[in-house]
Amino acid sequence: MRLTVIGTGYLGATHAACMAELGHEVLGVDVDPDKVAALQAGRVPFHEPALLAKHTASGRLRFTTSYEEAAAFGEVHFICVGTPQRKDSEGADLRYVDSAFASMARYAGPDALLVGKSTVPVGTAGRLADTHAAEIAWNPEFLREGFAVEDTLRPDRLVLGVGSERAEALLRAVYAPVIAAGTPVVTADFPTAELVKTAANAFLATKISFINAMAEVCEATGADVSVLAEAIGHDDRIGKKFLRSGVGFGGGCLPKDIRAFAHRADELGVSLAFLREVDAINMRRRDRVVELARELCGGAVLGARITVLGAAFKPDSDDIRDSPALNVAARLRLDGADVTVHDPEAMDNARKAFPLLGYAVSAEEALGGADLVLHLTEWPQFREISPDTARSLVSRPRIVDGRGVLDAAEWVAAGWEFRALGRPAPGEADRMGRLKR
Ligand code: NAD
Repeated sequence: MRLTVIGTGYLGATHAACMAELGHEVLGVDVDPDKVAALQAGRVPFHEPALLAKHTASGRLRFTTSYEEAAAFGEVHFICVGTPQRKDSEGADLRYVDSAFASMARYAGPDALLVGKSTVPVGTAGRLADTHAAEIAWNPEFLREGFAVEDTLRPDRLVLGVGSERAEALLRAVYAPVIAAGTPVVTADFPTAELVKTAANAFLATKISFINAMAEVCEATGADVSVLAEAIGHDDRIGKKFLRSGVGFGGGCLPKDIRAFAHRADELGVSLAFLREVDAINMRRRDRVVELARELCGGAVLGARITVLGAAFKPDSDDIRDSPALNVAARLRLDGADVTVHDPEAMDNARKAFPLLGYAVSAEEALGGADLVLHLTEWPQFREISPDTARSLVSRPRIVDGRGVLDAAEWVAAGWEFRALGRPAPGEADRMGRLKR
């Protein structure tokens, strides 16, 4: 089939390359000419650049800035533009979605199917269907950055929000190899399809903030949240995934999606106030890291040399949108610390967004002369750092593990003062776990 993908950011670029991988001819469209040029040259925001290179080289995948060209190219148009938080409220900014649908509807022929993939407030698809003559469907996306290609080619499920048998048949034809491989398909009306995505993100955010709220209780009592999480995670009904306490979630999706969901619920007269608490718990974890940094630096970070390991909001991505690591780094810099950041992939993006932070080309360089180390993005490379080697590089061996994955005993044995969120500092609690306060 001949498909277009409108909006070629993290979601759209992945979708375009994966649709080509499924055997379709694909034209990607973006309003940003630099992005179009970068993609055409093989620079991608996901981990398998070879996938894009293979399909651009064969001509099966191309990129353009022209909607007219896109409308003439094919029948099924996937709309993957951004839905960031509005500047004046918690709600989603639908300008890009509205504009992409309007542009496509203007040029598209009578047989065109416009398929929304962006995450939108419930009611958006219905509103667009009432506004434009072209047929509309909603096919929300669940990919995780870092596993984007895998998640697109082998998703847990496909959700098809459709208003006609024809739309469903077209989408089933697009995804035929994925469906043939056994992926469950859920067909739904527009509002249900939209809600599947926001509900899934709300649930995941709630699970993370639940364990982080437990971390706060652990900090107040001398209990250990990592042991707590392991023990409750053995219960199948709870499960272990998304139950690691740390500096919390960030990125271009979860934070803005839960805010937009709570905002939309208010408009509908339904209370999802708990999502605001989920958000608040999440932000408090960043405060806690800043607090720990101050504590470890003797009350103030002014003049302290602080190394931040991580800039991306999660490993295996260069995405720094609402990154907890950079948020903490910037706050410490504002407090007068001399902050040096290292990240395996996100350095260019971080430098552009936070030009006043220091940057080091390697973890070793970043550690040189540090008074305090903060481990804030869970890259496997950081877990492999030897505490002994790191000890020989820093000025003062003090570390906060903001992701709860480093082996405390190993770091302490190498002479480090070690702190993690939701866990007593080694030596802080007595044999029965009672705080020495
Ligand atoms: P992004 O900011 O990386 O990409 C959006 C792209 O759309 C940009 O390249 C921008 O230039 C382009 N664009 C904006 N207006 C346009 C227009 N009128 N016509 C053509 N292109 C236009 O955003 P993203 O992370 O890819 O997210 C896109 C949507 O997908 C959001 O709704 C997001 O919530 C959702 N989503 C993202 C992910 C993810 O992991 N990033 C996962 C699932 C769903």
